[in-house]
Amino acid sequence: MTQATGTLYIVSAPSGAGKTSLVKALIEQIDTLRVSVSHTTRAMRPGETDGVNYHFTCREEFLEQVGKGDFLEHAEVFGNLYGTSQSTVERTLAAGHDLILEIDWQGAQQVRRALPQARSIFILPPSRAALQDRLSNRGQDSDDTIAGRMTQAVDEMSHYVEYDYIVINDDFHTALDDMKSILRSGRLSLAHQQNLNSQLLTALLSD
Ligand code: GDP
Ligand code: ADP
Ligand code: 5GP
Repeated sequence: MTQATGTLYIVSAPSGAGKTSLVKALIEQIDTLRVSVSHTTRAMRPGETDGVNYHFTCREEFLEQVGKGDFLEHAEVFGNLYGTSQSTVERTLAAGHDLILEIDWQGAQQVRRALPQARSIFILPPSRAALQDRLSNRGQDSDDTIAGRMTQAVDEMSHYVEYDYIVINDDFHTALDDMKSILRSGRLSLAHQQNLNSQLLTALLSD
């Protein structure tokens, strides 16, 4: 991987916790922030667009890309394959942008191994009942799918201990502020400041 200047963020959550809504709001508010568009074999939901929400693909093509080493990570979630393009991550970070990966815990483990400097955030719902309500209210999945996602939610949530930051998405705006604080602290870190303000740091210490 080339020398990266942006910071890589992993965001995971049980389905329905509000991950997509929070990340969408962050992207709209922070200029330099980008989100990685994953490849998936899942069927497109109403309102989704190919290339925007996901790169929708078939299992055969996905597995061919796995064989070519195109993915930084990939995993099977709810019976569908999901993967993150290695080249897009490299290019975005090299261009100096911070990048969010919205991936599950299995993908998060793979990314941490490949890029230990990545920071990870786990989003939790305020209760199991709220999670169920949000999945139903989103109105995009069948009752069977929702029941399956609720069962998987507990399994997904059990991995929260592997993450650097925990955000509880009860009040949306509070959770959004929490996410912004995490990103802001990342931009103030020594490594980031050395990149961003290299001229100032040199000038301050010169004779
Ligand atoms: P939603 O989270 O309910 O909106 O459902 P999605 O279909 O968008 O995502 C399903 C699951 O796949 C979630 O757990 C995501 O974190 C995970 N996921 C999405 N994209 C990727 C990816 O590129 N890699 C991996 N490993 N997981 C992904
Ligand atoms: P995920 O990507 O984690 O599956 P979404 O962002 O699709 O979750 O959110 C699931 C549903 O919950 C959406 O209908 C969204 O509008 C709603 N939602 C998200 N955050 C909150 C919140 N803090 N309070 C109430 N509803 C929320
Ligand atoms: P959905 O199908 O509802 O959009 O997503 C279901 C789950 O798949 C979410 O929890 C999401 O985080 C995960 N997911 C989406 N894209 C990726 C990806 O590229 N890699 C991995 N590992 N998980 C993903």
